[in-house]
Amino acid sequence: MSAGPERVDLHTHSIRSDGVLEPGALVRRAAGKGVTTMALADHDTLSGVPEAAAEGERLGVRVIAATELNTESAWGDVHVLGYFLDPLDRALEARLAWLRERRERRIEEMVERLNAHGHPVSLARVREIARGGALGRPHLAQALLEAGHVPTFDAAFETLIAKGAPAYVPRVGLDPAEAVELVRSHGGAAALAHPGTARDLDALLPMLVAAGLAGIECHYPEHTAEQRAHYLGLAARHDLVPTGGSDFHGRGEHGAEVGTVDVPRECVRALEVRRALG
Ligand code: AMP
Ligand code: ZN
Ligand code: FE
Ligand code: FE
Repeated sequence: MSAGPERVDLHTHSIRSDGVLEPGALVRRAAGKGVTTMALADHDTLSGVPEAAAEGERLGVRVIAATELNTESAWGDVHVLGYFLDPLDRALEARLAWLRERRERRIEEMVERLNAHGHPVSLARVREIARGGALGRPHLAQALLEAGHVPTFDAAFETLIAKGAPAYVPRVGLDPAEAVELVRSHGGAAALAHPGTARDLDALLPMLVAAGLAGIECHYPEHTAEQRAHYLGLAARHDLVPTGGSDFHGRGEHGAEVGTVDVPRECVRALEVRRALG
């Protein structure tokens, strides 16, 4: 387990998706917490990577280009982290642009439903909050809070925009294996994020391993010691690299402060080896 000053965080979000900090500010904050290697894993975009990498170079922080692909299906919420991707890969960017387009349509539809159900929010305000970042429910939660429809940011996720609520619109796009294949086919290493939100891992993991999964996020703020041990066992059984990160967004109680989850340094090299093996 890493201790002391050199910390690793392989799961962070900036304003380029549903986090709050600019990519450079996120890296400065991480550096202040002793982070020396981090992944910027904004949802469906690599647009923050150049700024984050430049700030990382200045501060001695290695920034790994990453993205988090959220899927929702009979497997539950399967989120796939893709590491070591290339922000200049045009074919990859075309796929990510398509996913961001799906995000826009989904949030627009949720805004329409909220309006129809007596909780009016304006799409324009939601877009203002996102400031050009890939749209997601957190922006909607912020707008609902501002409009006084919920008492707290987190309450929005538990009520008006919770899965199954009248205004909730399910995500459509990639299925879990397609998300893994997308990462791998563009030269990245894929890891299953926060495996606790997925269903039936005994069947899901072999399928994702067959699609090229390289890692599984064992070290995560919401995991109990028992869960961590369980996922470390699954990593060993399926020959996956145990990864980890804070899922820092900077708003609400979801995730943790950047750099505060103990992530073993050796997982970075192990992921690089997997990537090299294809
Ligand atoms: P979406 O992908 O648009 O459905 O929204 C899910 C995003 O919101 C993910 O990035 C989560 O990290 C974040 N999220 C999920 N639940 C919560 C919560 N209770 N509070 C804050 N953020 C959340
Ligand atoms: Zn997020
Ligand atoms: Fe996630
Ligand atoms: Fe995340």
